[in-house]
Amino acid sequence: MNADVEAVRTADRKHVFHSWSAQELIAPLPVAGAEGSYFWDYEGNRYLDFSSALVYTNIGYQHPKVVAAIQEQAAKMCTLAPGFAVDVRSEAARLIAERTPGDLDKIFFTNGGAEAVENAVRMARLHTGRPKVLSTYRSYHGATTGAINLTGDSRRFGNDSATAGVVHFWGPFLYRSPFHATTEAEECERALRHLEDTIVFEGPQSIAAVILETVVGAAGVLPPPPGYLPGVRELCDRYGIVFVLDEVMVGFGRTGKWFAAEHWDVTPDLITFAKGVNSGYVPLGGVAISAAIAETFARRPYPGGLTYSGHPLACAASVATINAMAEEGIVEQSARTGAELLGPGLRELAERHPSVGEVRGLGTFWALELVRDPKAREPLVPYAASGADSAPMAEFAAACKKGGLWPLTAGNRIHIAPACNVSAADAAKGLEILDGALAVADAHMA
Ligand code: PLP
Repeated sequence: MNADVEAVRTADRKHVFHSWSAQELIAPLPVAGAEGSYFWDYEGNRYLDFSSALVYTNIGYQHPKVVAAIQEQAAKMCTLAPGFAVDVRSEAARLIAERTPGDLDKIFFTNGGAEAVENAVRMARLHTGRPKVLSTYRSYHGATTGAINLTGDSRRFGNDSATAGVVHFWGPFLYRSPFHATTEAEECERALRHLEDTIVFEGPQSIAAVILETVVGAAGVLPPPPGYLPGVRELCDRYGIVFVLDEVMVGFGRTGKWFAAEHWDVTPDLITFAKGVNSGYVPLGGVAISAAIAETFARRPYPGGLTYSGHPLACAASVATINAMAEEGIVEQSARTGAELLGPGLRELAERHPSVGEVRGLGTFWALELVRDPKAREPLVPYAASGADSAPMAEFAAACKKGGLWPLTAGNRIHIAPACNVSAADAAKGLEILDGALAVADAHMA
């Protein structure tokens, strides 16, 4: 075993170039296996995965129905060019379209989230004949050139080409209100006024799309106040702007609905998805397209495509994932887990740990905002901190791991995103480990 682990570690360090990292400063954990809500290393240490990989294993690791579907599809037909009609591709598209709101009934498949975003923006620009796209400062839309320039958070900094035709604006976030609001209603109203001002002063005739994450994910887990998304829909209608909801992270059960847009009863013109669409077992993403935008390309060729668009193995995994989620009530389970276990459990932790400034979320998608000073709401580590500045969060993450929980930390927050079908016992166990680790954050209070 140990010989294996050393070979894995050595080849990784020598040949694998990792995302978002200074290559010599990382020590990736060699992982030997995974099942359900857990993965384990070669020494037999098991970790309860509260990050769902990168918030995508919505039905956990190695779900037997999805593994079997991939095996069956591999035996039958591993691949076929995107120009053909294929049973699993048609069925995956049908199952996804059945679950999207309104008339978003056509699916363009990509290999992941960033490509979905790139294609949604391309569709919006061609549909409107306008160049600009508006997105929020607190957002993450992917790491390809267009998507990272749409991104509002600090991951854009190393990539900013200043040529992407993107204008950033502030979305609502009451805890750190950019509008000095004190209630959700005030935050909503002021955020909508700010967006309208931005549209008017940019010139509506130059704006192709507004793109929002339905619930901002990687940049904070920020559920919008009640009237915000319907208000954005109205503004987009008024100014002839395409409304794109990016559901790459929050689609397919994460928030306790198939698509998070259902919570606010809003229908955008395009939805981007990836991750949970097949729990990430084989790379897949896509864009769900409204009838009006699909019509633009009914007799005029769509000038975009991908070699692996609608890959049969990925689509077979998607069909099996969606069917398993429906048969096993996983979307409803995610909603219940949030309402009955994670929400109350995290709020209870906040009462006992002064470093928890705010608890927010829904379904199996939560965040704790960790602060040095609850009154001033000073973050536990500064925005975009690295190196020594981010040490308190690194210590907190290490304490989680020591307790057997794999955390997802981002800036001064921990995001809590277990599998949507995490058991009640594992949800409780995760909360208990967090309880212990939060003592480390408390020790850093000002
Ligand atoms: N959009 C959102 C909302 C995301 O959370 C992500 C990834 O986390 C992406 C797009 C990019 O997806 P991918 O990493 O599959 O390209």
